[in-house]
Amino acid sequence: MTAIDTLFQNARLADGRIVDIAVGGGKIVAIAPGPQSYGSVGKIDDLGRRLVLPGMVEGHIHLDKCFIGDDWKPHRPCTAGFSVRERVKFEKEYLATAKPMAERAAALIDLCVSHGTSWMRSHVDVDAQVGLRHFEQIAAAREVHRDKVSVQIVAFPQSGILTSPGTADLLEQAVRGGAELVGGLDPAGHDGDAAGHLDIVFGIAERHGVGIDIHLHDGGLQGISEIEEIARRTKAMGLGGKVTISHAYALGEVSRDMVERTAHRLAEAGVAILTNAPGARLFPPVLLLREAGVNVFSGNDNIRDSWWPYGDGDLLERAMLVGYRSGFNTDEQLAAAFDMVSANAARALGVTDYGLTVGAEADFVVLDARHVQEAVVARPKPRDVYKHGRLVAHGGAILAAAA
Ligand SMILES: [Zn+2]
Repeated sequence: MTAIDTLFQNARLADGRIVDIAVGGGKIVAIAPGPQSYGSVGKIDDLGRRLVLPGMVEGHIHLDKCFIGDDWKPHRPCTAGFSVRERVKFEKEYLATAKPMAERAAALIDLCVSHGTSWMRSHVDVDAQVGLRHFEQIAAAREVHRDKVSVQIVAFPQSGILTSPGTADLLEQAVRGGAELVGGLDPAGHDGDAAGHLDIVFGIAERHGVGIDIHLHDGGLQGISEIEEIARRTKAMGLGGKVTISHAYALGEVSRDMVERTAHRLAEAGVAILTNAPGARLFPPVLLLREAGVNVFSGNDNIRDSWWPYGDGDLLERAMLVGYRSGFNTDEQLAAAFDMVSANAARALGVTDYGLTVGAEADFVVLDARHVQEAVVARPKPRDVYKHGRLVAHGGAILAAAA
């Protein structure tokens, strides 16, 4: 049997069972009611019957944008209704005077990890103006912080692709340089040519074997036709399980019949939907999609940046917000909200060794709750956060050894 580095005793699982969790080489090697004999054990950590949840998975964040660790920057509203172009312009003005990206990204990573985040998918701006600078800095940050959190990067064309000449080449360079996914942005609404935009995005994915995660704010029938086109291309290219549509607001804006038809196509193609149930916007009907077999997951998206001032990176709070806005009340629904920031998000990110199971990475968070439902509604703190079986955050702060 694998040597046990740490035996975590008196761990409460999501279903209320009390067990011991044996960890060796950063992985879970046994889960069983105590006491058991494990031969040699490096050390014992008594969890005092606190709840143990798998480390949470941040399905959508922007590590290059936030102003955590920087001065407060008041939100500037758009001048004539929401406009992505105007928001990007405001953002570039704010970022020009912001603290160095490495400092801001570190502050946000530490905040997220302190709440129990073990994995992240970060979109990172790539455009003709910033080139690959954001990508290079966030790629460096993920190496610096890799003992606390695992980060995957989406090369994100925040300024468009066709309307921002040079961006297609830069996206391809970012993917060659280690971005795991290629992004997209409102192929019709922003770039005015859905087919041209998707040709580039799917072309890069096909040439380099990477995943796709497209920001889609386009609403109504236009948005639905783009969602169905993305599903069609995903199925045709056999990319099921590797493609995400983030936001997909259109799914919250059309008739139930149309959502059901589109949900069927998404499930059949293996396209996941990311929603963070933002603010006052209509957003996809989570349970309907889930019941149709679509992988629906969540993430915090923008956190205290020029897009909106809210957030502290706590994925339990995000699960609560999604559940609250979706009208989730039953135990089954509350558990579904947690799935969106844990197992579902892990599946979307392609994390295979995930969860509180033997053989998985020993990434978990320990907190005072009786079960997962109470964790979602109460978001209790403080939390102890473990990555690869090692304590990395305690009482809301990153441990010095993990910093
Ligand atoms: Zn985003």
